[in-house]
Amino acid sequence: MKLYNLKDTTEIVTFSQAVQLGLGNNQGLFFPKKLPIIKSSDLEKILDMDFIYRSTFVLSMFIGNEIPFDELEKIVRRSFSFSSPKIRTLNQNVSCFELFHGPTLAFKDFGARFMAQTLSYLNKKNSKRVTVLTATSGDTGAAVAHAFYLMDNVKVVILYPKGKISALQEKLFCTLGNNIQTISINGSFDDCQDLVKKAFNDKYLRKNYGLNSANSINISRILAQVCYYFEAFSQLPKKNRQKLIISVPCGNFGNLTAGLLAKSLGLPIKSFIAATNANDTVPRFLLNKKWKPKKTVSTISNAMDISQPNNWPRVEEIFRRKKWSMTSLGFGSVSDIETKKNIKELYSLNYTSEPHAAIAYKLLKEKIRDHEYGIFLGTAHPAKFKTVVDEVLNISLSLPKELASREKSILLSKNINPDFILLKNILLNQ
Ligand SMILES: *Cc1c(COP(=O)(O)O)cnc(C)c1O
Repeated sequence: MKLYNLKDTTEIVTFSQAVQLGLGNNQGLFFPKKLPIIKSSDLEKILDMDFIYRSTFVLSMFIGNEIPFDELEKIVRRSFSFSSPKIRTLNQNVSCFELFHGPTLAFKDFGARFMAQTLSYLNKKNSKRVTVLTATSGDTGAAVAHAFYLMDNVKVVILYPKGKISALQEKLFCTLGNNIQTISINGSFDDCQDLVKKAFNDKYLRKNYGLNSANSINISRILAQVCYYFEAFSQLPKKNRQKLIISVPCGNFGNLTAGLLAKSLGLPIKSFIAATNANDTVPRFLLNKKWKPKKTVSTISNAMDISQPNNWPRVEEIFRRKKWSMTSLGFGSVSDIETKKNIKELYSLNYTSEPHAAIAYKLLKEKIRDHEYGIFLGTAHPAKFKTVVDEVLNISLSLPKELASREKSILLSKNINPDFILLKNILLNQ
């Protein structure tokens, strides 16, 4: 598989290189040179495969013979070693696709675990030490930490905005220790992302520390997520596969990128809705064509508190390459007040949800037309956002074992100001 750098199209790399580098020159994102297509006559056969085999098949369409099929299947089996995602039907024409049955209860387990297993496979060949440096607005940290926990030759450093992720989220990944180091930053998620970028621009660090970012800029994470769009489709009754709309709660726009790649492969999804919270850089851009990020604001859907979404250039590139019109992309931004209302509404439909999915649900409901079928993505388990969900619904959610087992553990994070020199010192002194 060959990929080019969106900021410097003369930089061409292999899949292995793209996974190991994360970002290219000038912090450009890698993008597949060839967008493979599944023949529509093969689609049914592919949808009938089981999740692991089908996912291997889909991934191999992109990756090609760089990783032999049977090796790739092993990687996929180890990565998706938890119960597969599930469609939950809410009414005649709407369902939630639950992606949160992994070890850290969010969809990010798919991408993070596939990336970890792929890196481990690639590193076996050259037994290099790598440092995975990543910024998180919540769920990435947990998914990445658990995906790499106790892995040989990998040190993980995770930055997150202090006080801006839920206490339980923090417990889930800042209590592991061992090869996982967590640092809370006195600032926003964008400040954390900025520090990561600076580290990647630092030639000395990059050379000597085998720096890698596990953020959704890493192509392996995006490709892994393509797989579950096929799974969603396969779980739908045939009559609901026509005119399918998928509403995606967006932060860094990795999940939407994956959905669009699934469509580009030939999965007949009619359209997507890009749903954001008050951090609405993309909805405003789609409305008036001006890219004007504002200061990030904190919301109850904190995994989406991002005003400079990293993956947006990939979204644009897919539309450009496929010659699709951007006007086919639905979009909108949802306030905290509206989000809470929709958590309540979902509860009245017998479905306990959480802020991120509720945002996607709200916009789906608004935009879906007669004869269309809609899916909104359930990106996290409601218990991960227990404080808000309990308060809004006046209930007390019980904690799933993944969270309950960490609730009382001690936080091991360091705390620093958003200052690159401080971060560099920590990285150099470990
Ligand atoms: C990360 C995250 C999102 C946003 O996904 P992107 O791929 O960054 O757009 C949405 N919901 C939850 C719960 C998340 O953890």
